[in-house]
Amino acid sequence: MSLSLIAKSIKPSPTLALNEKFAILKEKGDPVIHLGGGEPKTRVPMEAIMATVSHVNTGEVRYAPADGIPALKQAIIRYTEEFYNRKVTPQHIIASGGAKQALMVALMAILNPQEEVIFPAPYWVSYPDMARLIGAIPVPALPEDGTFYPRLKDIEDRVGSYTKAVIINSPNNPTGAMYSEEFISDVVQYCEKKDIWLIMDDIYHRLIFDGRKIINPYKYAKKFDENSKLIIINGVSKQYAMTGFRIGWAVGNKKVIEAMSNIQGHQTSGPSVLLQKAAVGALNGIQSSVESLRVTLENNRNVMVDLLHSFEGVKVTKPDGTFYCFADFSVYNKSSNQLSAFLINKVQVLTVPGAEFGLEGYLRLSYCGSIKDIQDGIERMKWALDLNSPNELYIGDRKLVRDWS
Ligand code: PMP
Repeated sequence: MSLSLIAKSIKPSPTLALNEKFAILKEKGDPVIHLGGGEPKTRVPMEAIMATVSHVNTGEVRYAPADGIPALKQAIIRYTEEFYNRKVTPQHIIASGGAKQALMVALMAILNPQEEVIFPAPYWVSYPDMARLIGAIPVPALPEDGTFYPRLKDIEDRVGSYTKAVIINSPNNPTGAMYSEEFISDVVQYCEKKDIWLIMDDIYHRLIFDGRKIINPYKYAKKFDENSKLIIINGVSKQYAMTGFRIGWAVGNKKVIEAMSNIQGHQTSGPSVLLQKAAVGALNGIQSSVESLRVTLENNRNVMVDLLHSFEGVKVTKPDGTFYCFADFSVYNKSSNQLSAFLINKVQVLTVPGAEFGLEGYLRLSYCGSIKDIQDGIERMKWALDLNSPNELYIGDRKLVRDWS
């Protein structure tokens, strides 16, 4: 079939494919455990639900401005003041269909075909394909020192005449690593000096542990407004457990936001007004759900990391935030795709292969589900992988017998 070159260069999202797999197995009644998910299971804030319901009850659900309704922009202005200590205007903001669309339209607004965008590896699965969607070139930067914490040199070494942008995601999906204040400061100043766009994907910035403080990249910026090439991406999906509402946003200089709004206007005419109302409810409502989610995730992280330490040969870096742990399972299988498939087939535990994030031999394990899922999931993995464990395992009243070695 004569599909476009771009269409042929894009893979399906592995994490979305895993969600589908989970739904199918669950529907069949299989006792599957999803440790590959990317969404908290806590309830959506009541204010978000009330705001949507009251708007739907008006019976008038119409087109809205493509770059976001004024009430949402006002809520984002307040958010930006609170967390970034910056006063912005509605012209500095675009609301999109999730942080994903905000990122996509930002990349479309700044990158030409063949230009390069650099991001530290391991990276969020979508960055490379987002770049390819516009004919741009993704340039992953794996830290040279073998850690999950890049240094400026890792970025600098890859900057060339085609470099147009850098994306930084901290705390990071998939590693949970929160980059140091020094690194953020270095990268902000370096990109300003080099006149490169810097996109901060801050979608997990409030979900951080062990008393860490949110880092504000603007603190290190010298250029403001029309001279600033710093774009901040955020959204309600993770912090308010509102993944299905599909609302994210970008804050940037007026020109780039205008360009992004033009693009989005032709793409989708902007997100649904109902879902924007929900985001306003969440952003303006009581914020205790965010802190309680954060505390739950920190506890879940501790449980998962402790359990993973019981595996001989598995290397674990304690996540500083997010709800992911990226562990080195190469001692069991160097191919993370094979290992992940093995775990689904043998013990029905879903994990995401590290290769999808640019690092082979690792698995991404999520701790955004219940403690029971974490405990049972890791127990099953241990049984499947550690040949010193007993030959049999019970899942409910099903008896599994290990027939592999
Ligand atoms: N950036 C990162 C790093 C993510 O992990 C995700 C979601 N998995 C997104 C952006 C997109 O979030 P949203 O649901 O708001 O589109």
